Amino acid sequence: MSRPDRTEFRSLTGMRDVLWPESARRRALVDVFAAVVEAAGYREVRPPLLEDLGVFLRVGETTDVVTKEMYDFEDKDGSRVALRPELTAGVVRAFVQHSPPVPWKVWYEGANFRHERPQKGRYRSFEQVGVEVLGVDDPDLDVEVIALAWRFYEAIGLRSVRLLLNTLGEHDDRARYTEAVRDHLEAHRGDLSDQALATLARNPLRVLDSKRPQDRAVVESAPVIADVLSAPAAEHFARVREGLEVLGVPYTEAPRLVRGLDYYRRTTFEFAAESLDAAQNAVGGGGRYDGLAEDLGGPPTDGIGLALGVDRILLACDAEGVFGAPEAVLDVYVVDLVGGAAARDLTHELRAAGFSADRRFGGGSMKSQMKSADRSGARWAVLVGDDEVAAGEVTLRDLRGGADQRRVPRDRLTAELAGSQPSETQPSEPEVEPT
Ligand code: AMP
Repeated sequence: MSRPDRTEFRSLTGMRDVLWPESARRRALVDVFAAVVEAAGYREVRPPLLEDLGVFLRVGETTDVVTKEMYDFEDKDGSRVALRPELTAGVVRAFVQHSPPVPWKVWYEGANFRHERPQKGRYRSFEQVGVEVLGVDDPDLDVEVIALAWRFYEAIGLRSVRLLLNTLGEHDDRARYTEAVRDHLEAHRGDLSDQALATLARNPLRVLDSKRPQDRAVVESAPVIADVLSAPAAEHFARVREGLEVLGVPYTEAPRLVRGLDYYRRTTFEFAAESLDAAQNAVGGGGRYDGLAEDLGGPPTDGIGLALGVDRILLACDAEGVFGAPEAVLDVYVVDLVGGAAARDLTHELRAAGFSADRRFGGGSMKSQMKSADRSGARWAVLVGDDEVAAGEVTLRDLRGGADQRRVPRDRLTAELAGSQPSETQPSEPEVEPT
């Protein structure tokens, strides 16, 4: 391969570098999600980023996500592969491959790739957190899954999220509904946008998703699923609504809510952040996909899941002024004025004793090292100069409580730190609480 001429590179269009402290904020968000769902018995699954193209074709042959936006290519052995545009298909492929005992309750986090037109809240590489449950046909599970997402939004402090709820009925209901919608749209072809007409040819239900003003009147007069719902599907949906009411999860029925991918059946839902622009305000969504495992070569298995968009959730947090980036947390910054050996040895000892500790490399004046200590967010500075070395001591300076400082014997340093302010300087887990 020839060497590229360019020497300066930037991240690709629609892809971003996430630097600290935004990276810490993302991790904190995933930690909150993990805590909420693990407390409900979900365990993490990490499927690969790259799958056989067929995994995705199987689930969405008529959707833009699969037909237009997928990063698919020929692998070195000639096989067709794709970067995942979403995680459900890969998780269900993993379920079919490994046949774990059911119910299989899993959660995930990770990047997805879609070649979309980038704009705020819409990227070509974006992250999701989500859950999937395979092997349970019980509307109370739909309630559990939706309620978990709701609790998660609450836990991070979002207040303006709205749950939109619908059902797409059983397989036959959906097919009948698709026909009814197609007939309606065909009857009003003249009033639809060119884009809607193109979508109509491939996937009539997706036209109901159109946000174009020109399509609004036709979409709003379209039939609703309730017109064709079978009795079992109606019962399932009634039980889901009842459960949400009992659990205090407010919802809005959205009779024309359809989801992007083809495999959804029965309960479908979306979370909209009202603090964001309508075009990009979906901060999550999901539903039942009862035929998916079978489509991927497994036994008939009920499934339900949801995926929440981390990038958009953080935009909603910005808009609401909640869940800011966590502050830098460090117990000790070592300021060494005697050539570096003290910093080398002390940071090592402190870390071994369970404290977080950092230092300056390459020396520097007391003033500039203290500046680094302040910037590091450290609770304490430990200063070592000639006097301290001669006395077998170090100077311990409290960086948060004014300029308080005292000398302590070097070999008592960790005990002093542990004893000084137990709640703040005890070795601790990294802080993940939002500020
Ligand atoms: P979907 O798989 O399309 O239902 O997406 C689930 C969630 O992922 C959405 O509600 C969004 O929050 C998020 N999402 C989807 N596509 C993008 C994108 N291109 N950029 C950022 N977030 C996205």
